[in-house]
Amino acid sequence: MSSIADNIFKIKSSLPKGVTLVAVSKTKPVQDLMEAYHAGQRIFGENKIQEMTDKWQAMPKDIDWHMIGHVQSNKVKFMAPYVSLIHGVDSLKLLIEIDRQAQKNQRIINCLLQMHIASEETKFGLTETELHALLTSDVFKELQHIKVVGLMGMATFTENQEQIASEFRFLKSIYDRYSSQHAHNLAFSTLSMGMSNDYALAISCGSNMVRVGSLIFGER
Ligand SMILES: *Cc1c(COP(=O)(O)O)cnc(C)c1O
Repeated sequence: MSSIADNIFKIKSSLPKGVTLVAVSKTKPVQDLMEAYHAGQRIFGENKIQEMTDKWQAMPKDIDWHMIGHVQSNKVKFMAPYVSLIHGVDSLKLLIEIDRQAQKNQRIINCLLQMHIASEETKFGLTETELHALLTSDVFKELQHIKVVGLMGMATFTENQEQIASEFRFLKSIYDRYSSQHAHNLAFSTLSMGMSNDYALAISCGSNMVRVGSLIFGER
């Protein structure tokens, strides 16, 4: 069996320049994360705020913590002091709460808007119309303590590579359309798409941030 460090080195050496690896460590013990840390990994993705906060407290402070899961508004306050990027923002209401908690902590929190690109009903995310409405709303323009730095999406859970690729390309096309727009709280630099099974495909479709869990830490 290959070690966590080996897995990190193998994946990192396969990534083109400019593509960032988020090590998705949800459900894994701190000991496993520390092995990745000692292999040089400094960005970790978690999907539960309580678990991420416990790990943040237990681990070295030069780590960027990414929230990749669905976020409940009433829990934003627990990660607001330290979270480095929130991937799963899919409503103006949530963005307003993140802004409020960021202000309390006298910081600006970077966010990705999660887009619905999969054919499944259950996945979270905004439609293109909802994205447009959010970014052009007067309320959004007033937010001073968040910055929308890009988009995140998850493809349909399928073996069909052509379908996955077409969903990724669709997200990239939306990303490109908004990349030229700049405001005090809006500047796209990050397109988060691709997981263990489809990260190479996602990169070929324009991803510059991949979220890889089981390929590093083993099955959950
Ligand atoms: C769990 C998770 C991942 C990582 O999945 P793997 O298949 O283990 O690489 C990536 N993104 C999100 C949003 C996740 O919840």
